[in-house]
Amino acid sequence: PHCMNNNLATDNPEAYRDHRRRFNPGATLFREGEAGECAYIIERGHVVITSLVNGRNLRLAVLGPGEIVGEMALVDRGVRTATATARDAVEAIVVSHDLIHNRIDNADPVLNLFLRVILSRFREWRERISLNRPVGERPAAPADNGDTELAIEVIRLNEELRSSLGEHRFTLFFQPIVALNSHRIAGFEALVRWLHPERGLVPPNEFIGLAEASGLIVPLGLEVLRSACAALKRLNDRQQSLRPGAQPLFMSVNLSARQLDEPEFITQLYGIIEEVGLSPHLLRLEITESLLMRDPERASVALAQVQRLGFGITIDDFGTGYSSLSYLHRFPIDTLKIDRSFVHAMLGSHRSLTVVQTIGRLAQSLGLNIVAEGIETPEQLEYLQAFGFQYGQGYLIGRPAAEDVAHCWVEAPPEF
Ligand code: C2E
Ligand code: CA
Ligand code: CA
Repeated sequence: PHCMNNNLATDNPEAYRDHRRRFNPGATLFREGEAGECAYIIERGHVVITSLVNGRNLRLAVLGPGEIVGEMALVDRGVRTATATARDAVEAIVVSHDLIHNRIDNADPVLNLFLRVILSRFREWRERISLNRPVGERPAAPADNGDTELAIEVIRLNEELRSSLGEHRFTLFFQPIVALNSHRIAGFEALVRWLHPERGLVPPNEFIGLAEASGLIVPLGLEVLRSACAALKRLNDRQQSLRPGAQPLFMSVNLSARQLDEPEFITQLYGIIEEVGLSPHLLRLEITESLLMRDPERASVALAQVQRLGFGITIDDFGTGYSSLSYLHRFPIDTLKIDRSFVHAMLGSHRSLTVVQTIGRLAQSLGLNIVAEGIETPEQLEYLQAFGFQYGQGYLIGRPAAEDVAHCWVEAPPEF
């Protein structure tokens, strides 16, 4: 869409290429009170910004190359709060409505709220100082289609998360991961839960994204690692007392990208297992494909360090992300965990079944461990066993449960 500028036709009609405009000295880019549908980036020349204040035309600024003009009305879809005039020959790039609005629509709701508030405050203030503005309607009210409420809810939730962290209101559930050939428990996956004072047990899908966006995932993730390692120590002690010499259990812990970005992460991770007295190979860090592909260079450096220290690295939700096979040899991975959507679909179509079987073969030929998650029926279990999957996890075997239940499973393995 083009910037509709009434003055363009009369003052200076010369528009060359769609996204560029030229204005002769004295031409108007836009006028106070008009609807604003585009902004400009000045490439050459200067633009004088003026505004009517108490009936007097006040010069507010002179903008030159590299500067943006007309941004405000573009962002909040309100009217122009000032007039922009070319001082000399001006060349400018047109910033279209779409460019900004697609971005605003996809932006963080909290950022959007603050943007709306700042703009509407500014417009109120402009209204007040230029009481007798000749043109223009009332300033645009901040758009409100529930966006404000949503953003405020996000802010509230985030602050609750922050205070909950200080109050240790997070707990871990453990889901058994079993060896499919022997039906023995091989380890557990630690899954975090939020003990919310009013809402009770909140599942991770409702707050992990938020914790990632605000950075709270870093301290929360450390807390999770610490608790998971401590719980594993207790579970292994229990197993050792019941069955001396049995293979020790492992613990899988989910990691977020933000945690791996922390320069301190590796040191802290190592500190935790040393403190608990745990061998690093019993800790399996689960990361998703998207985490790897977000910044492959960085991820491969961090993961190489993690592997050198002896930790296990699992690709979680395998098959749902980029599924770029390149990372299978690029990153030091030792386990693939096929996403539960494949397990869910595999008995519904021959194609899905073949995909699952092929992923199983791929893992085998690369010498990787393979875990199937989301096993809900005996038929799924049967096929996965037949396809040579080593480990399985799912509601059929056991739902995520508190630590005391996990201890019971160590005593008497779940039956399935
Ligand atoms: P995930 O890592 O894929 O974890 C498996 C999820 O599948 C768990 O949901 C689990 O309860 C569920 N599940 C297990 N077996 C079955 C089954 O047979 N059928 C079905 N339909 N679902 C099954 P949960 O605990 O709600 O966790 C959801 C996601 O939250 C996790 O997905 C993980 O991405 C994230 N998450 C959980 N804990 C943490 C954490 O400590 N840190 C981070 N960064 N993310 C976490
Ligand atoms: Ca996981
Ligand atoms: Ca998963």
